[in-house]
Amino acid sequence: MSATIIDGKAIAQEVRAKIATAAAALSKEHGIVPGLAVVLVGSDPASEVYVRSKSKAVIEAGMRSFDHKLSADTSQADLLALIAQLNADETVHGILVQLPLPSHIDSTLVLNSVDPGKDVDGFHPLNAGRLATGLPALVPCTPLGCIILAKSVHPSLAGMDAVVVGRSNIVGKPLAALLIGESATVTVAHSKTQDLPAVCRRADLLFAAVGRAEMIKGDWVRPGATVIDVGINRIPGTGGKSRIVGDVAYAEAAERAGAITPVPGGVGPMTIACLLVNTVRAACAAHGLPAPRV
Ligand code: NAP
Repeated sequence: MSATIIDGKAIAQEVRAKIATAAAALSKEHGIVPGLAVVLVGSDPASEVYVRSKSKAVIEAGMRSFDHKLSADTSQADLLALIAQLNADETVHGILVQLPLPSHIDSTLVLNSVDPGKDVDGFHPLNAGRLATGLPALVPCTPLGCIILAKSVHPSLAGMDAVVVGRSNIVGKPLAALLIGESATVTVAHSKTQDLPAVCRRADLLFAAVGRAEMIKGDWVRPGATVIDVGINRIPGTGGKSRIVGDVAYAEAAERAGAITPVPGGVGPMTIACLLVNTVRAACAAHGLPAPRV
């Protein structure tokens, strides 16, 4: 069997087009232009690239982007003061603080200071709690993207056996909560899980969010399963260059899976698309309007 390749780039583009339409309607009918503030502290090259592509995507969707680039020696007090200012700014509907923050800053304190209604990363404990209890919430972008990709193959996930490998607060746990919300039967595996290959082989839906290059082998995949690979790992390539691979041994897994996401071009593009989704949702909620469907 050779798997269907789930084209994350194309699906992300569809989501972005829907969000641009929703943003245009909000502007025309209500005079609201959704605004996203991105805060970057320091000059980590990977973070700078990521922040630039976020701002570009926001502007392309017809929304406002407010970029705040602070020097690496910015004090925690100054950063908290900026977040308080953004919390109070009615033109800002979403606030994203790019991680990692420099070591002299308490990341948890900073993330918890973002107004939960503007928490487009979905990292605030209030949003995590709302998601866990099945209440409407701003949910982390990467897990949201994973659900959209899984539903591109299976419009209903109800009753499916889902295995999530990884239990981080930004991917594994919120993904498990979203899958429960979709009425899947969910197993969360991690570094202490016994016989991980056997656990993975039970999955109709296998999600890999581990951070270990090609750890999940082809024969861990149940024939016909849908595999969503969140991993982004840089490994040595040919000619002294590096290349990006996922957490799944793609070529062998694609021989057994029914559908699979590539890396790059799978989950990655969905993360930014879902950031736009969350920004529009936050803008609608701030004005008591229903969220657009995506
Ligand atoms: P993380 O915080 O490091 O969590 C990794 C998880 O994997 C942990 O729960 C860990 O278990 C588990 N794990 C580690 N080794 C394992 C093993 N040998 N067997 C089973 N489980 C194991 O990572 P993360 O932030 O969730 O990110 C995961 C991956 O997704 C990374 O490659 C990251 O770059 C990528 N990512 C991609 C996007 C995107 O936009 N595509 C966004 C976010 C993250 P313990 O809890 O027991 O330690």
